[in-house]
Amino acid sequence: MTLPSKIKYLIIGAGVHGLSTGWHLAKELKACGKGSGEDILIVDKTAVAAGASGIACGVVRNFYYQPAMGDVMNVSVDIWESDPEAFHFHQCGYIAVVPETQDDDVVSIYERQQKGGYDSTLVQGEQKVFDYMRHIFPDWRARGLTSLLYERRSGFAFNSAAMFGIADKAEAEGVKIETGVQVKGFVFDAANAVTKVATNRGEIEVEQVIVAVGPWVAQIWEMLGLSDKIDILGQDGRLHTSQEMWTYWRLLEGTLRIDPKEYVTADGKTPPVFHFDSREPLISLQSGKQLNEDDGLWGIYWKQDQHGGQGGAAPENLGHTAQVDPYGAASPTYVVGNRFVDVWTSGLAHAIERFEGCHLAYDHVPSGGIGCFTADSFPIFDYAPGVANVYVVADSNHGFKMIGVGKEVARVLMGERSAILHPFRYARFAEGDLHPVSNSPYPWG
Ligand SMILES: Cc1cc2nc3c(=O)[nH]c(=O)nc-3n(C[C@H](O)[C@H](O)[C@H](O)COP(=O)(O)OP(=O)(O)OC[C@H]3O[C@@H](n4cnc5c(N)ncnc54)[C@H](O)[C@@H]3O)c2cc1C
Repeated sequence: MTLPSKIKYLIIGAGVHGLSTGWHLAKELKACGKGSGEDILIVDKTAVAAGASGIACGVVRNFYYQPAMGDVMNVSVDIWESDPEAFHFHQCGYIAVVPETQDDDVVSIYERQQKGGYDSTLVQGEQKVFDYMRHIFPDWRARGLTSLLYERRSGFAFNSAAMFGIADKAEAEGVKIETGVQVKGFVFDAANAVTKVATNRGEIEVEQVIVAVGPWVAQIWEMLGLSDKIDILGQDGRLHTSQEMWTYWRLLEGTLRIDPKEYVTADGKTPPVFHFDSREPLISLQSGKQLNEDDGLWGIYWKQDQHGGQGGAAPENLGHTAQVDPYGAASPTYVVGNRFVDVWTSGLAHAIERFEGCHLAYDHVPSGGIGCFTADSFPIFDYAPGVANVYVVADSNHGFKMIGVGKEVARVLMGERSAILHPFRYARFAEGDLHPVSNSPYPWG
């Protein structure tokens, strides 16, 4: 297809946020009588699901200490539930099992979920947690964990398949998706609004641009002439810290080649996705040596997958600049090191006896990918500062699960206010209105 020379809404990026925004914006335009999907073009430099959304582990959970993140998840899970078949969503539940330092965090997450109607069960006390896990997995053996939260509405979705499901919904509303179109720059008018978007296939005149480029966001940010530093103010109005705008983390993931049918619950069902953090000694399956320092916190997550099981462990900080392309499994730099394989497989065996020796089933193929985190590690969902017609969805690597962000962005583009997106405004840094930080060891906690 030749690119149109003009489009009302140009969405850059065909990952979860670009596709969901396109789909929902088309519905909003129709409902308001202001247009249709034909006013929307999604462009991607590579393909649908070519970015983080296509390699994500696909975990959909509401296990967030920050109330605002929980609100995003409520609207998102409603959408996952609306058509599980199209989105390849498996509502098998999600269990987090954590040690004492996170007890209070888990209670506040549970209480918020109860208020919001998000079905979940809280179990506290070391023996009770152990017994509960044994009820699900008779060979559960991890001790020293004092809180458990079981989210029944959570689960996982198959990454690329889910993206094609959203793309189908957008296209059914008349949205066009063009791949092989790389955005290279912007043309501004005197009021600093973008009038044209320059691509490798020519310029497109636009009224409104939505940036949803995942880990490539710093590149577009620079094209928009925005600073790579940000001042963060405390609630007292004084400068708290001046920070780099973006930080890259490498998310490490692995796959075990096991028969998925062997990894089921005691009653033969698809097991909930599980995640646990522990301070117990982690003994290497490979060397028999202890992998963590005494009392050192470590954690893993794990889910059943099409060809076995998939999961991950702690990410690696790459600093403030990173070579993002070639992305994901396509890149030779993504072959995970043995340390990850050892921690992750030994962690699985630590928790569930059937994984004893599972390092031998580890699939040594490139895996994982880079995430681009904001200055406070929470998303920015807002108009680009000083650029009136460019909306940026920078999810700080929280986002495969956040299929509902596009619905809220579409409402904002229609001139409505979204209470759900408001806590993620860019101005929060200048206002000192940051999100509370939990005791989780992960940068996304
Ligand atoms: C290994 C890994 C595991 C993860 N696991 C989970 C998980 O289990 N659950 C969860 O909720 N989140 C997870 N995440 C995070 C999640 O994948 C991302 O937050 C989310 O997918 C980002 O979606 P996006 O639409 O913003 O970007 P992406 O999915 O990255 O899509 C951006 C698109 O923009 C295109 N693009 C980039 N630059 C340009 C340009 N200049 N012109 C045109 N197109 C461009 C790219 O080709 C890409 O297709 C994981 C991330 C990683 C890396």
